Amino acid sequence: MPYISKGTPSTIHKAKLHRKPSGLQSNYNNAWAKVSINYRKAHPLCECCLHLGTMTDITAGGYKGCVDHMIPITRNGSMYNLDNLLALCKGCHDTKSQFESKGIAPVPTRLDMDGKVVPYDRQDVIKWLADKVKIKLQWAEQSKSTGA
Ligand SMILES: [Zn+2]
Repeated sequence: MPYISKGTPSTIHKAKLHRKPSGLQSNYNNAWAKVSINYRKAHPLCECCLHLGTMTDITAGGYKGCVDHMIPITRNGSMYNLDNLLALCKGCHDTKSQFESKGIAPVPTRLDMDGKVVPYDRQDVIKWLADKVKIKLQWAEQSKSTGA
């Protein structure tokens, strides 16, 4: 006579309990999503473009930009400290990633209350990045004029 083994439900229950760490992971992601959304509400324009005198909206649909960690998390940069966040359009973010592969922004940093790294003055990072964006724009102009 077929019947469902009594052991089955508790095995499933145990499997669910074992998955708890991934729940922790999703809380962490939810917390970041909230910070990111709120930061974009407060900074709807790319902060680097703004420094260069252009207003680039990063809130409207699609992937137009992101909230960047000025000091990368992989370099002990703070995940949530607003002093380490920067609203960037896709173009500026790509530029930052490109130049970061050669080393992060050479700006003075400090440790925050959680012992995480944040820039001493966020304007230093914006100025550093704006210079790189300008260089890239010049390259683009040059390759246009030489037809390359
Ligand atoms: Zn930008």
